[in-house]
Amino acid sequence: MTQYKHVALIGLGLIAGSMSLAMRRAGMDVHITGTARSAETRAKALELGLVDAVFDTAAEAVKGADLIVLAVPIGAMGTVAAEIAPHLKAGATVTDVGSVKAAVVTAVAPHIPDNVHFIPGHPMAGTEKSGPEAGLAHLFDNRWCLLTPPEDVDQNALATLKSFWISLGAMVEEMEPDHHDLVAVVISHAPHLIAYTMVGVADDMSRVTKQEVVNYSAAGFRDFTRIAASDPTMWRDVFLHNKDATLEVLGRFTEELFALQRAIRTGDGDFLFDYFTRTRNIRRSIIDAGQDTDAVDFGRGPHAEDET
Ligand code: NAP
Repeated sequence: MTQYKHVALIGLGLIAGSMSLAMRRAGMDVHITGTARSAETRAKALELGLVDAVFDTAAEAVKGADLIVLAVPIGAMGTVAAEIAPHLKAGATVTDVGSVKAAVVTAVAPHIPDNVHFIPGHPMAGTEKSGPEAGLAHLFDNRWCLLTPPEDVDQNALATLKSFWISLGAMVEEMEPDHHDLVAVVISHAPHLIAYTMVGVADDMSRVTKQEVVNYSAAGFRDFTRIAASDPTMWRDVFLHNKDATLEVLGRFTEELFALQRAIRTGDGDFLFDYFTRTRNIRRSIIDAGQDTDAVDFGRGPHAEDET
């Protein structure tokens, strides 16, 4: 197993920026190149030292790279893959960090040459911030990175990518793309949609004026507003490209909501109590698994990361 000597980051936002900072923190002997859509982001990434060299195009940025990371919104993955394909080095690995996997495989895989490995991935870590300045060296610490390798994946290429993510602080697991997409809806996509909805409802209700929402916002609602401040482009693309799994989970969510609604209307306190006891236990198992802390938090501290 070898280590990457040259990593190309396509897209230089929160996730790519965090990967760069984590590579630097790990003391990797690696040359990092990159590109982003706008000249402003490219200049900022260079200024922040996220890349050793920045290029105007993805085609130039990937030349000679051993690992190419597609860190752009889901909807841009296919176009970027088509652009870089003729410029990839034989034996290189292309991965991505997209929050949806089946749609990315469909969009990217057909462009990848036979002599290049394609191993999709999704680091389950993020924040509501975006752009190169949002990067955090510790973002992936103790978080899962889910890889969805094809059945005939080159085992050396897979082992190298796994060890790369572990060096960035992550834990790695393999999964089928469709299963990943269902899991991602339950733990991330649906919660985001619900947060967007709740904040939208509050905004809509005439008797709860915006000022009251701002002034008296309690921790629960503040957490919703934090999630609902997430990048609109990213989340539009997530829902457009993970449609079936999202609709399936939302159907289940609506059924549960109706059951709770009915319990409230009929005064079924036992139902509500048992339901909330069960959900409290889930919270306990997340803390026990080391995926959150039990610290009292009146609206999230400075290291508030949200799994996405
Ligand atoms: P971000 O901070 O908004 O950064 C996206 C980057 O992609 C920007 O540098 C943007 O350039 C660039 N870009 C957009 N379209 C491009 C194109 N056609 N060609 C080249 N560059 C392009 O987003 P992010 O949060 O890092 O998300 C990147 C990916 O990670 C997404 O696929 C997302 O689903 C996934 N992800 C996100 C999170 C999260 O919490 N944010 C967590 C896990 C995975 P400009 O700045 O010039 O527009």
